[in-house]
Amino acid sequence: MNPDISLIRGRWIFTGETTLDQGAIAIQNDTILEVDTWDVIQANYPQAEVLGSDSFAVMPGLINAHHHSNGVPNSLQGIDDDFLELWLFANLGLRAQDPHLKTLLSIAQLLQSGVTSVVDVASMAGSARDCLENLHGRLQAYEQSGMRVALTPGISYESVLVHGEDGAFLASLPGDLRQRLQTLLPSHQPLTPTDHVDLIGALVKEYQTHPHIEVWFGPPGPQWVGDELLVQMADAAERLDTHIQTHALESFYEKLMGPRLYGKSVIAHLQDLGVLSPRFSIAHGVWLTEADIEILAATGAAVSHNPSSNLRLRAGMAPLTAMISGGATVGLGMDGTAIGDDDDMFAEMRLATRLQRSPQLGHAAPSYGDIFRVATAGSAKLMGKAQQLGKLAPGYRADVVLVNCDRITWPWVSPEANPLHVLLMRARAGDVDTVLVNGKVVLQAGMPTGFDLKAVGQALAEQLAAAPNRDQYRALAADVIPHLSRWYAQWDVPPLSPYAAFNSRV
Ligand SMILES: [Zn+2]
Repeated sequence: MNPDISLIRGRWIFTGETTLDQGAIAIQNDTILEVDTWDVIQANYPQAEVLGSDSFAVMPGLINAHHHSNGVPNSLQGIDDDFLELWLFANLGLRAQDPHLKTLLSIAQLLQSGVTSVVDVASMAGSARDCLENLHGRLQAYEQSGMRVALTPGISYESVLVHGEDGAFLASLPGDLRQRLQTLLPSHQPLTPTDHVDLIGALVKEYQTHPHIEVWFGPPGPQWVGDELLVQMADAAERLDTHIQTHALESFYEKLMGPRLYGKSVIAHLQDLGVLSPRFSIAHGVWLTEADIEILAATGAAVSHNPSSNLRLRAGMAPLTAMISGGATVGLGMDGTAIGDDDDMFAEMRLATRLQRSPQLGHAAPSYGDIFRVATAGSAKLMGKAQQLGKLAPGYRADVVLVNCDRITWPWVSPEANPLHVLLMRARAGDVDTVLVNGKVVLQAGMPTGFDLKAVGQALAEQLAAAPNRDQYRALAADVIPHLSRWYAQWDVPPLSPYAAFNSRV
């Protein structure tokens, strides 16, 4: 008997390529050894310990390709959804949360919905020491929980008020409001761009051989860091063999920003800067044109598709079908802004599938299988791990999810039903029972094994209750937002041509 080998058994095994009825996988330490029917696997490893039973569906861990560990969400802090640009400003009213605790809270929700890997985009502020303290808190949470992460820290240096036009916007405000803005919002970041690249570069190196944590560069958006810093980060990512992810073409006004700021589309501008490569991914891409999609496919740059967030922040609906058929690499992300405010990746897959169903016959629409691939193999490719994650196959990492099928299949399921369709149609976060990352159980009976979730919630509640209120900032946001709204409303809008018509005025 080899004590390093254990088996995972299920009524259904979704390998990412096929579905095995009454199947099992054998894992050795952190790696998948063999995938076959239960009879074969049991005969090959008669002494091995067994997890699961024929009550479970077994699938590769889902990969959230773009996220923010928000901890206690905006909804509970009295910040409602709005247009991206207005919402970002309203976020000034959020109380601070301990980075370690808020990351643990988000990790618990992700593991509970079968997510084993996440690209966690972390905004930082303050001095180098402040930034490091913040990031160490987050890294410690991933260490403790065993979850796989690409931690992607970033800072905004420019366009903190409106895309590309802060000076003109400030000048347009009444004098007293301008003064309040300048008093309450620091005009520069203490950490210089060069020190920022060095600081992240050092962390990238520190974690280069870590079994489940890596660090990426995370410029929040091209307009928020400027061209020079973006190029520096892309070069550093190449040199250090890591990745870079940025928000791009999320809102309608970011689409309009391209011609205003660069004289061309944002993606064409990124191509001209030479930053696009398989190491580079954008979050959202709602407003990608056909030409933009061709550029992404040609350069290998990837997109995280975040349908919930796009609806919540009134960004629109990304052309997922066109991205996939155009050959772009696409993963699925929740952006910390899922439709039910619960970080449920099953709900996200359902929404992604349903949203793309054009009402006209003859139009392509993604199947559940397509969306499952986006949330597994697609996200894995975005992370540069297509040969390690996103499938249950020999040699792949043992990132495995066991979903209890009792509720999902109650009271009866036909032998003709497609099991993957049944799972994706009906499963939700509460059905996830056990999660393994690198062969280690990180969620058991629906609860994280690395930390006490109840205690984390309690500590966050106490911290937030004791945190100073942000009345001044809330009042500032309430006064500035109508001006922001008017600013964007006067931008020229070009004629639009949708990929598919979802309704018609005539
Ligand atoms: Zn985001």
